[in-house]
Amino acid sequence: MEHLDVKNGRIDAARTVDAAGERHRIDADWFVCAVPPDRAVRLWSRDVLAHAPELAGTRDLHTDWMNGLQFYLRETPHGLGELLSFMDSQWQLTAVLQSGIWNRDFARDYGDGEVADCLSLDISDWDTPGILYGRPARHCSPAQIARECWAQMKAHLEDTGASVLPDAVLHSWFLDPAITWHSEQGRNTNDEPLTVNTVGTWSKRPAPRTGIPNLFVAGDYVQTDTDLATMESANESARAAANALLEAADSPAAPAATWKLYQPPELDGLKRLDAQRYKAGRPHLLDT
Ligand SMILES: Cc1cc2nc3c(=O)[nH]c(=O)nc-3n(C[C@H](O)[C@H](O)[C@H](O)COP(=O)(O)OP(=O)(O)OC[C@H]3O[C@@H](n4cnc5c(N)ncnc54)[C@H](O)[C@@H]3O)c2cc1C
Repeated sequence: MEHLDVKNGRIDAARTVDAAGERHRIDADWFVCAVPPDRAVRLWSRDVLAHAPELAGTRDLHTDWMNGLQFYLRETPHGLGELLSFMDSQWQLTAVLQSGIWNRDFARDYGDGEVADCLSLDISDWDTPGILYGRPARHCSPAQIARECWAQMKAHLEDTGASVLPDAVLHSWFLDPAITWHSEQGRNTNDEPLTVNTVGTWSKRPAPRTGIPNLFVAGDYVQTDTDLATMESANESARAAANALLEAADSPAAPAATWKLYQPPELDGLKRLDAQRYKAGRPHLLDT
């Protein structure tokens, strides 16, 4: 989607460009915009903002880089849990060992039959220099990123001398294709940055119903009870957008089910303590 046409205070049509570069006009009665915030702002034209000024706040929302890298392994490493946090890694690596969470025969169902497992990483710090090349991930080629991540995991797992990730188990790797390496500039670009809800941005985030009666918004940056950029909040916002649409259309269809995020009461005391500390200008208890 490239543009929203506005006529008489309503969205008249959406303009799109397909993969072959062909332009299309999509006519509809109702529009749900479910693109990420960095893309949504490109659709908030002067005409759109004239009727839905509350959408202007989307420009002030924050995105950052967090992208995935998968390592395909010839065998499942011994002694690793399913969820791994490499707390001391320069690039803030976390990982999931896939064989532990899916009841599938990896070698039979995926790849060339030689792969027994997948270690799926999130790289959350693209700005701190790594240990092999002394450069942040933003300035490393895909192969350098893969070698760095492997080295940082080994440094974390093997610091007592035991071999946990022998190099021979590595079959291949795959970096998120949203990351594009520009060798002439020595840097990456990221087509899919992550939404990060920063302090004080609630009022900048749109509600599912906008000032334009036939335009609704969904996505992890929309105001929700979940209030954290996750699949849950994206899902909740989509349900809220669908329900707002059904109501505006006076539809007899049953609304989508909605629910509040479960808040474990056993954490209430810690939250109150954190609120007091925040008010007093003191750091979070777990901030080192
Ligand atoms: C590496 C990583 C790990 C994550 N891990 C977790 C996790 O473990 N648990 C969790 O809950 N959340 C996780 N998240 C967050 C979660 O993935 C997102 O919050 C969620 O996917 C957001 O959903 P969304 O529908 O708002 O946006 P998206 O899922 O980004 O969907 C937006 C869609 O819009 C399309 N699009 C973009 N621009 C246009 C355009 N101009 N026209 C048409 N279409 C367009 C995109 O191609 C995409 O399909 C993770 C995110 C990342 C990056």
